[in-house]
Amino acid sequence: MTSCIFCSIIAGDIPSKKIYEDEHTYAFFDISQVTKGHTLVVPKNHHENLFDLPESELNHVYQSVQKVGHALKETFSPAGLNLVNNNGEAAGQTVFHYHVHLIPRYDSTDGFRAKWEEHGSEYSEADLEAMRVELVQSLSK
Ligand code: 5GP
Ligand code: ZN
Repeated sequence: MTSCIFCSIIAGDIPSKKIYEDEHTYAFFDISQVTKGHTLVVPKNHHENLFDLPESELNHVYQSVQKVGHALKETFSPAGLNLVNNNGEAAGQTVFHYHVHLIPRYDSTDGFRAKWEEHGSEYSEADLEAMRVELVQSLSK
């Protein structure tokens, strides 16, 4: 048995509530069921996070995310759907095998809440322009 819990789930060594499987991806209920139908989509190959994931795998994962998202919408009629992907411990990642959370949303008390604080006023126009230039330079490397 591998030390990665999601690799063990994919291999069938740990039971899971499987929703969907194809050559490249596997989808199953998150054990925490933050909201009804909370599902995880993972690549079958072990990659730790977004930064390790090859582009081809990313495409496969998001094709499955859309497919499972449609099924969740049709089946449970949520009012909305949040996609959450935590990369790194600081971002809340606890299982280090890439995964996307599909969290169907029903109302403001359904169990999921994301806190968004606005800090736009703390950056001047010059700050934002310097940040933009730095980032665009990184992208062109
Ligand atoms: P993360 O915090 O890394 O974004 O999410 C990891 C998720 O994996 C958590 O929401 C947690 O509930 C789920 N999880 C951890 N262990 C298991 C397990 O053994 N089975 C299932 N189905 N989900 C798990
Ligand atoms: Zn793994």
